Amino acid sequence: MAGRTAQDDRLLAGLDPEQLAAVRAPRGPVCVLAGAGTGKTRTITHRIAHLVRSGHVAAGQVLAVTFTARAAGELRARLRGLGVEGAQARTFHAAALRQLRYFWPRVVGDQQWDLLEGKLRLVGQAAQRAGVDTEPETLRDLATEVEWAKASLISPDDYPAAAAKARRQTPAPAPRVASVYRDYEQLKNRARRLDFDDLLLHTAAALEEHGEVADEFRDRYRCFVVDEYQDVTPLQQRVLDAWLGRRDDLTVVGDANQTIYSFAGASPRPLLDFSRRFPEATVVRLERDYRSTPQVVALANKVIAGARDRPAGSRLRLAGQRPDGPEPRFTEFDDEHAEATAVAARITELIDSGVPVSEIAVLYRVNAQSEEYEQALTEADVPYLVRGGERFFTRPEVRQAMTALRSAAAEPPDGELPGAVRALLEPIGLTQQPPPGGAARQRWESLLALVELAEELASTTDGANLERYVAELEQRAQAQHPPTVEGVTLASLHAAKGLEWDAVFCVGLVEGTLPIQHALGENAASPDAVEEERRLFYVGVTRAREHLWLSWALARSTGARRGRRCSRFVYGLLPENHPSTRPAAPRKPQGGSAAKPRCRICDTPLTETLAVKLGRCSGCPANLDEVLLERLKEWRFERARELKVPAYVVFTDATLVAIAEQRPTDPSALVSISGIGATKLERFGDDVLSLVRGE
Ligand code: ATP
Ligand code: MG
Repeated sequence: MAGRTAQDDRLLAGLDPEQLAAVRAPRGPVCVLAGAGTGKTRTITHRIAHLVRSGHVAAGQVLAVTFTARAAGELRARLRGLGVEGAQARTFHAAALRQLRYFWPRVVGDQQWDLLEGKLRLVGQAAQRAGVDTEPETLRDLATEVEWAKASLISPDDYPAAAAKARRQTPAPAPRVASVYRDYEQLKNRARRLDFDDLLLHTAAALEEHGEVADEFRDRYRCFVVDEYQDVTPLQQRVLDAWLGRRDDLTVVGDANQTIYSFAGASPRPLLDFSRRFPEATVVRLERDYRSTPQVVALANKVIAGARDRPAGSRLRLAGQRPDGPEPRFTEFDDEHAEATAVAARITELIDSGVPVSEIAVLYRVNAQSEEYEQALTEADVPYLVRGGERFFTRPEVRQAMTALRSAAAEPPDGELPGAVRALLEPIGLTQQPPPGGAARQRWESLLALVELAEELASTTDGANLERYVAELEQRAQAQHPPTVEGVTLASLHAAKGLEWDAVFCVGLVEGTLPIQHALGENAASPDAVEEERRLFYVGVTRAREHLWLSWALARSTGARRGRRCSRFVYGLLPENHPSTRPAAPRKPQGGSAAKPRCRICDTPLTETLAVKLGRCSGCPANLDEVLLERLKEWRFERARELKVPAYVVFTDATLVAIAEQRPTDPSALVSISGIGATKLERFGDDVLSLVRGE
């Protein structure tokens, strides 16, 4: 027992007073509301270890859930590191799948139901019936709507009203989408298939409707922990409530500023309202950022300070705890190829200076962006791993390895597991020494990762053999959870949540990519959608421990028109005198009175009044300095009051937007904005220019 106490003391010594309060809180509801890198995940893993060590709960009675397979893997690894064996750490879906497999015979009988992998085919059939277009993009959007509705516990009948209320951008008229949803459910049920959301629905129903199932479950699991709770959907919350029953042994941690799945029905409300639901809960706020240098933290604070309508409870200011590091770098490129090449070159420099290659990540908004970086890294002989995708398991060498391992597992060889795996992979290309670089090196790294996984399994599991190892691989392939490959991580911002690296490259930061084009539509959902994009950017920058790089390219391909603009989120962060902060040059009239105003972004002639005023067509992304617009509006309000005239007499909204987009810094640039003539220039020019200059 003394040893146990000493171990527990050591465990608790690595925590600050607030983390300690959450870790040592007695059994019952606990909520940690805190910003990125403040140790939320660390707090829950330590809390689980402490509860287990002090005998409050057995490891096997703990169920920790999170939202991605990768994050669940991270939780398991950290728990293992703390010496906790047997606690479950899974995604909601994986936990539900396991429970359903167990309870199914009792709640449904012996009818066989299979998991539906991907719903596009059935959605396609349903769309055809409903007379909705069946283009791949429309089908994906329809599937998203079905998923959103199911995650939000909305039935087909209620879909149209709910979609209008939530201002969904529906791919077809809402009643049509509802009928696709209804038919999809019918087709799926007739084929005896369950989709991912059904796993959760049926799990909740099994516990809600079958008393003996609920009793057995609640006897088995007694302590629940949820990481990243800000992204819980109503459906997941229902499952969680079914797990809990009337008990309150629930620890949740999250950061409302990292809510990045609202488009899929997630909401930070349950996190922010936790203490209302459990008035006796221990609530802890953490503000010390242990992950990042003060330079990175300062930038992260600025990013999130620009957010609109932040709910109470999410206004935290992070304080960096680490020693100083380099200033974040901002770089603009002519095209994406130049951007990727420069990123690869900088990565090589970092590796040469001693940063481990697995401590480097390139993060982007959409998966399609990875390709340019895969190429640039291959050319630079730097190994990489694409995360957030199934790609590891679809690599040819990994498939080949799986086939070899599977057939060997039928007649397992003698000897210890890692040696056996290595021997099986040698014929496929696992040489003793790594090949120099390029594709061969990439192949070698994947195979090595498989051996390392065998080593890990052998060291953590008694009697681990080839059969067990192959089962682990299959499970990971299904959960899209690749083993750690020594290489630079390429990941989407969504897939990077909860993770951290020494060096992070946030790339492709242009309007239309971040924020993404569909968040910029003219419809009213846009402000919320743009805010979600901002939080996504915040997630990205807060992944960096030390080196942070932010870049964008003005054209997609080499030689193309440099018509893009740097992301609005980045614009306000640029250091003074950064080349990209130069103001928009006034457009010179192009010969004679025939010259028509043209879009300053795509150069097409403008005809609509509003477009002329803004100097761009409605389809082109705005590059609005939102803070400046706010200031301009405040100023206009004051001036209008002084002059006793309506505000639009000073400037119309469109003119203010045009100023905030174009940021003119001298009178000639200002007067070139439509709606500003000599009189206005004389009356208001100085005021406006000094506002633009930030005075
Ligand atoms: P995110 O919001 O990004 O998920 P988080 O709040 O979960 O972040 P963690 O990942 O738990 O943060 O911690 C961030 C980093 O800081 C980790 O490397 C962790 O080990 C370290 N850390 C956390 N708390 C402490 C502490 N008290 N002392 C030293 N290091 C700490
Ligand atoms: Mg975390």
